Amino acid sequence: MIEQAELIGQIKAYNPALEQEIIAKAYDFAKEKHEGQTRSSGEPYYTHPVEVAGILADMRMDTATIVTAILHDTLEDTEATYKDLQTLFGDEVARLVNGVSKLTRIESQTVEGKQAENFRKLVLAMSEDIRVLLVKLADRLHNMRTLHHIKKPEKRRRIARETLEIYAPLAERIGLHKIKEELEDLSFGHLNPEARESITNRLSYLRKEGTTIVKTIIDTLEKLLGDQGIKAEITGREKTRYSIWRKMQRKNISFEQLSDIMAFRVVVGDVGQCYHALGMIHGAYPTVPGRFKDYISTPKPNGYRSIHTTVIGPEKQRIEIQIRTSEMHEEADLGVAAHWAYKQGRKKARLKDAKEYRWMRELLDIIEQESKPEEFLENTKMELFQDQVYVFSPRGDLIELPNAATPIDFAYAIHSAVGDKCVGAKVNGRIAPLNSKLHNGDQVEIITAKNQTPSPTWERFVVSGKARSHIRRFIRQQQRSQYSQLGKAMLEKVFQQENYQFTEKAVSGILGQFRAEDVEDVYAGIGSGHIVARDVFKAIFPGHKSEMAKKPSDAEAEEGAQARKAADTSKPLPIKGLIPGMAMHYARCCHPLPGDRIVGIVTSGKGVSIHTIDCDTLENFADTPERWLDVSWDEGPDAPESHIGRLEVVIANEPGALGTLSTVIGRNGGNITNLKITSRSLDFWDMMIDVYVNDTKHLNNIIAALRATPSVVTVDRARGR
Ligand code: MN
Repeated sequence: MIEQAELIGQIKAYNPALEQEIIAKAYDFAKEKHEGQTRSSGEPYYTHPVEVAGILADMRMDTATIVTAILHDTLEDTEATYKDLQTLFGDEVARLVNGVSKLTRIESQTVEGKQAENFRKLVLAMSEDIRVLLVKLADRLHNMRTLHHIKKPEKRRRIARETLEIYAPLAERIGLHKIKEELEDLSFGHLNPEARESITNRLSYLRKEGTTIVKTIIDTLEKLLGDQGIKAEITGREKTRYSIWRKMQRKNISFEQLSDIMAFRVVVGDVGQCYHALGMIHGAYPTVPGRFKDYISTPKPNGYRSIHTTVIGPEKQRIEIQIRTSEMHEEADLGVAAHWAYKQGRKKARLKDAKEYRWMRELLDIIEQESKPEEFLENTKMELFQDQVYVFSPRGDLIELPNAATPIDFAYAIHSAVGDKCVGAKVNGRIAPLNSKLHNGDQVEIITAKNQTPSPTWERFVVSGKARSHIRRFIRQQQRSQYSQLGKAMLEKVFQQENYQFTEKAVSGILGQFRAEDVEDVYAGIGSGHIVARDVFKAIFPGHKSEMAKKPSDAEAEEGAQARKAADTSKPLPIKGLIPGMAMHYARCCHPLPGDRIVGIVTSGKGVSIHTIDCDTLENFADTPERWLDVSWDEGPDAPESHIGRLEVVIANEPGALGTLSTVIGRNGGNITNLKITSRSLDFWDMMIDVYVNDTKHLNNIIAALRATPSVVTVDRARGR
């Protein structure tokens, strides 16, 4: 357990300009806030964040990162608020601590093996500032170092597995090789103590005789390079226990068969010497094919540079050799953290060899310009996965969705049946609109209802292909069933006109002639206008002489014309909720106008009639709810501007009354298209007037104007009686 003074001393060793008050303030704050909390080891809780800060001080991190480490659990585990941190430690630290807390929250989700990759992406995507991830990894490292204090073996194993699957690869990803190795070794010890023990024993046995081998090889290599005037610092070591174990597993071999358990590192002055040294080594020893990699000419995406090769070395042992300059060596050890190491001291010290540090200096420049985090990460070659968003199901499954995904996309990603029945969503426990955008780490719960069906409006905001294709398929099916209902009604009407009993069996006999698979196909064909109902009838009764030679009534002709006009798909339908191309007309009983609440009724032979919701005629359809369609006005810019409104008017029987009436209507922008006197008495005339108007508001204006006219007794809108 390190104390405050020790931590400050550790930082001052690499950053003499440290203002130690800020560290002291953070230390006191954490100690006070975590008061009364203890670790599994029994130690006071605040010792943990201080140890984490110590790990980051070992990495020579900047002060903001160290302070963040000391405070990293205060937001999540104490009553300290973001505001407190902001006031006491400034915006940068508050933002960093908040970032670490977000990662801590998703950490509590259990993730199964195959989801580890997604989880790693999520952690990267949520670490908007790389320092957030550095603190989290140091946090994990300290928790792993103290994992043996946790009593429950299952819990220890779960945490160890998670470390191995998620945090060690992340550490490697950003070049923290030492931390990666320690995380792996600690996890290995909890997951497979016997294997680790036996490898440890084998290694120490080999080491007894092997110390000389490592030493001999180093001496031989040093002499080889020294003869050419290359001054090299050579170190040799065994591979880690975990990497040996992995190799034994991967190649399914025993420890004895494992040849290259030793790795050597040759650190030279400059890049030229790297290649010179490589040439010397390859000239002196046989190379193992397929093991040569030049990461100097082609650095790894994380910036790692080195030459790797494997040779049959001086003692006839396969040995792995890494050749690099001292700068590369430092970078490789600390990885991306090297670029966050304390800036000022570094700049002074390194200014003379600025050339080799160009990469690092560029990075520091980017950071100092306070560019956006995503830009920074792009420039450090970290992938950010910004085209994806990762969210959790209530069970903790990690679901990968396209960026800007909504709860509907999530629902379809879970299961198409969940998507189809979705009525609502909870995001992080709160009801959220179905079109809200999901964010990384959100927990999403879908509320379903048995009778819900996909809404066509969903198509406007979903972003995943799966959701879109399911919604479209449903709409197509729904359209088909509407067409089919309509087509059946139209065919029934023909049968009725010809005095035949309609049977489905009759229709099923002529499927082939219409290239239909089933009767539904025929109905849908009629409903959508691809098949003429009368042709179907003729096909069933080829010899039948039609009784329908007589002309249809005028009214029917007019409605037919209206229906055809509406069916013209080149013009947008004024009604939403109908299938484009579906025959439609306004009911002549109630003359609905834009602004009225309306309903569509599938009628026999005439398509859909639109009624006002309070039209009396609707009572006739009360028993056949399947014929009702939910429709509404489309008041878009393309909507037609004229509709017929019907008025019932009573006027006084006096000279000029009719003239006044038509003048008032005309002055209010109404155009009379039909006028009928329905009854006359001595004093009053009852009339029915059809007027072209734009909408209900327009008609109401006319009604109001008429009511103000002295010779008009009553005015009302016709209600379909
Ligand atoms: Mn912690």
